[in-house]
Order: sequence, then structure tokens, then C-alpha cells
Amino acid sequence: MDKEEAWKEIERLRDFDNAITEEIQSDIAYYRTLFANVIMVGSPTEDWVLIDTGLKKYRDRILHACKERYGEKPPLAILLTHGHFDHIGSAKALAKYWNVPIFMHEKELPYATGKAAYMPCDPTVGGGVSLMSVFFPTKPEHLGDLVTALPSDGTIPCLPEWRYIETPGHTAGHISFFREKDKLLVAGDAVATEKSESSLSIFFPFQRLHGPPAYFTEDWYLAEESVKRLAALQPDTIIAGHGLPMQGEFMKEELQQLADHFAQQAVPKHKRH
Ligand SMILES: [Zn+2]
Ligand SMILES: [Zn+2]
Repeated sequence: MDKEEAWKEIERLRDFDNAITEEIQSDIAYYRTLFANVIMVGSPTEDWVLIDTGLKKYRDRILHACKERYGEKPPLAILLTHGHFDHIGSAKALAKYWNVPIFMHEKELPYATGKAAYMPCDPTVGGGVSLMSVFFPTKPEHLGDLVTALPSDGTIPCLPEWRYIETPGHTAGHISFFREKDKLLVAGDAVATEKSESSLSIFFPFQRLHGPPAYFTEDWYLAEESVKRLAALQPDTIIAGHGLPMQGEFMKEELQQLADHFAQQAVPKHKRH
């Protein structure tokens, strides 16, 4: 099976063409590109911002989803939780189409501007990732001067009610986005609400809280600190980069469990020592 055929097969299994934008509340919606979420912040009548941009081939589908919600009104900006291919994929094409800036954390910038490369994916974690690995790009993304570092004080241009939380570990400059007034957390890959290493979970998502996707996580010590930081925020809603959004008491318990038992629950066995 070549790459194109594998792609088609996975889309068929996910019934992808029926994917629709899901509104979580009046000013938050998400759209799933194959296995990575893009998040739209802002009600349809307000200014809005896009968080993460899915895979590379999804420009047109993301545009379609955004236009259904916002018409021709472009977002004020694109924010990226980190620079992995399944979050940065359509960033350049969308930023050019809308003529809007892209923001990410300063420490993540080198990976998005051709100056540094992520460590290779860890094949020993196994499972669904081996299936997905056919989509891993061979070259790092280069956003050039389309991308700018976020201010260092945690504020976010265009989103005054939000701040970003540094959540390194999965990558060096990974960030999550938090809105205090309704305790809404956009977590990127600091946590996941599906187990990305399991193809079963990718195809049939159900709501459990997991640690960051193992195949690309660089520093498990920092990743644990980051989950503890997120648990301390006591979010009411979590939208992660992978999986369905989670809300309520069950999610809160799972997040605290993950923070308290991170090594056992999230870190691959051979990396615990
Ligand atoms: Zn990632
Ligand atoms: Zn990801």
C-alpha cells in the first residue's frame, strides 16, 4: 500500500468526509482533521482566532469548516500549540490565504523556521503510530516571517481574556491556552483525550484522559511537570489536540490522577527508569 492508498483507507475508516465542525459552546468550536483537532475561538458574529492547523493537506477542508462558521471573515491570527506536523501542517497555506500572522512560543520558533529539527519519532512505542507514520513529513516546516513569537508575559495578542501556559516536555516550546472566566483549556499535546499510540482509539475515540502522544514526546520529566501545572488550573473543559473534548467531574478526576501517577499512566515502560 503506498502513501496515497493508506491515506484514503484511513479516511474511509474514519468516515472523514462526514466530519463536521462541532460547537462546544457559543464561542468555541473544533474541527477534526483526520486525527488532529483545529479549534475556533470566537462566536460566529465576533472576531475569532484559529488554534492549530491540522495536517498539511487540509487547507481547503479547514477553510470550508471556518467559512461555514464565520463566512468570509478571516481570523485575527493563527495560534500554534507547537510545531509538530499534525498541528502546523496547514498553517502556512492558511496564513497566506487569510493574510494573518501566526504566533507560537519563542522556544518553539526554531522548529518552525528551519533552524532546528525535532528528534525522530520513537518507533518503540508502537501501535497506531506505525500506521500513522506514513504521514510523517520528511522535511521540517519553514514558516519564514509568517510566524512571530508570543509576548513572554503569557498574554496573547487578539485574545485578551486568554493567556498561554508553558507546557514543555512534549516539545521544548509547547504551550496550552487557558481562559480563566470559564476555566477552558486548549491543551495541545500536553495531554490527549485519546490514546494516539492505539489505532483502536484513533478510529473509535472515547473520552479518557491520557498523557502526551508518546511517539513524539521529548522530555518526560518536563511533560509531567506540565500536566501538574494544568491540573493546578482545575479546568472545567479540556480540548486537546487529539481526541474528543472533555468536561465535568470525570475529566477533573482523570486529570488529577494523571498528574499524581504520571510515570505509571503516561510514560512508556522502557522510559520510566
Ligand atoms: Zn505533538
Ligand atoms: Zn499532535
